[in-house]
Amino acid sequence: MKLVVVGAGPAGLNAAVAAAGCGAHVTLLDQMPAAGGRIWAGSSAPPALDALCARAAALGVNRLQGARVIAADGLRLLVEMPTDARWLAADRIVVATGARELQLPFPGWTLPGVIAAGGLQLMVKSGLDLHGRRVVVAGSGPLLLAVAESARAAGAEVLAIADQAAPARVWRFAAGLVHSPARLVQAMRLRAALWRTPYLAGWRIAAADAGATAAAGATAAADGALAAVRLVQRDGRQQSINCDLLAVGHGLVPELQLPALLGCALTARGVKVDALGASSVPGIYAAGESTGIGGAIKAALEGRIAGLAAAGDDAAARALGPALRRERDFADRLHEAFEPRLDECPRPDATTLICRCEDVPWRAVQACGSWREARLMTRCGMGHCQGRLCGAAAARLQGWTVNDARPPFMPARAGTLAALASRANAQE
Ligand SMILES: Cc1cc2nc3c(=O)[nH]c(=O)nc-3n(C[C@H](O)[C@H](O)[C@H](O)COP(=O)(O)OP(=O)(O)OC[C@H]3O[C@@H](n4cnc5c(N)ncnc54)[C@H](O)[C@@H]3O)c2cc1C
Repeated sequence: MKLVVVGAGPAGLNAAVAAAGCGAHVTLLDQMPAAGGRIWAGSSAPPALDALCARAAALGVNRLQGARVIAADGLRLLVEMPTDARWLAADRIVVATGARELQLPFPGWTLPGVIAAGGLQLMVKSGLDLHGRRVVVAGSGPLLLAVAESARAAGAEVLAIADQAAPARVWRFAAGLVHSPARLVQAMRLRAALWRTPYLAGWRIAAADAGATAAAGATAAADGALAAVRLVQRDGRQQSINCDLLAVGHGLVPELQLPALLGCALTARGVKVDALGASSVPGIYAAGESTGIGGAIKAALEGRIAGLAAAGDDAAARALGPALRRERDFADRLHEAFEPRLDECPRPDATTLICRCEDVPWRAVQACGSWREARLMTRCGMGHCQGRLCGAAAARLQGWTVNDARPPFMPARAGTLAALASRANAQE
């Protein structure tokens, strides 16, 4: 049985190892140059990742890094490799494509100095020195605490963590951590390391201000670069914090282009799967953040379950059900506490760019009645990112259904597009 696993994060690696352990011929693909997915990206050889990679190698998993799936046709995937492109045929597929950060536009979000929270964390892991930098971390969710701690450890002065979730929801979530002692300890460690930094629950970003427009005393920044962030509470109270880096993250959204293209049924949270990770399309399984945001432990468990089930060991997969239910309960609590609600989201003004690739302002998109109309009339989502950033923002702010599952769903080389045109060139 030939199994192709797409994504070598915690979900995909565990799926590959579990299936190969049952005797399946497994190919594990990831677009990144190294395995590990988002959580281990940029880290230097974490032991858990090393152990999984060693196990995969010992079991004969064929691991292809720098391999991007850009289109699909039934159980065949078009994969762009560093030097060529090929169609890869499978008997079964596990989709473990993870998630990306939700970027919500607000006035000033394109200023130099405003950065994605996960992006800042990745740069810190890769060695960025933040000594002498004043950082504010804002948005929603527990990732903010982890990013703030990474920034502090890299030398930054972290002035505030602003979470738009209402204080009651944050406290309810924190109290619920008693059911996950390891997470409670981790959260307490992070908070203790940041004990000087105020945690502002219920504050959302109103705007990021540039040097010349920021409040007096904030003009150390060059004109045009970030000098301050303005935060606002639900009752309208505002405060401005002078800073030279603003790390923004509003939680994660699953990467769904591939499962959508494969025809998998989707829910509001991600790919719809049964207890064994099987999607609505026979032969296609999904695991990890692609089935709903829930963290690395849930991703790893779902990966093992999908790998075992895809390789035919349903009994072993079912035995992991109770552990998975606990993780899904945690995912539900995470969602309930931190999922950005429309009335708490930062808001763009008429001139704020929503599509940074094609320079489309919010007023142009707002005038449209659907995502399709916005694409056709304004070119929103037609640029390099193919709507992965602005599409998620438009879906959140306008309540639109955004489905961009058309191949190729990532920029591709001309040679790859030629392979897409001639589907006959399948490789067995
Ligand atoms: C920016 C960011 C920062 C995070 N930081 C933390 C943190 O500090 N602590 C924490 O506990 N959790 C963090 N998380 C959450 C954590 O990464 C996830 O919970 C966990 O990695 C989920 O594992 P996964 O295998 O489902 O997905 P991922 O780890 O995201 O792995 C998915 C993999 O699929 C690959 N992929 C996607 N599409 C394709 C394609 N078409 N072709 C080929 N490959 C593809 C990606 O390159 C990626 O390597 C972060 C998430 C993000 C997005």
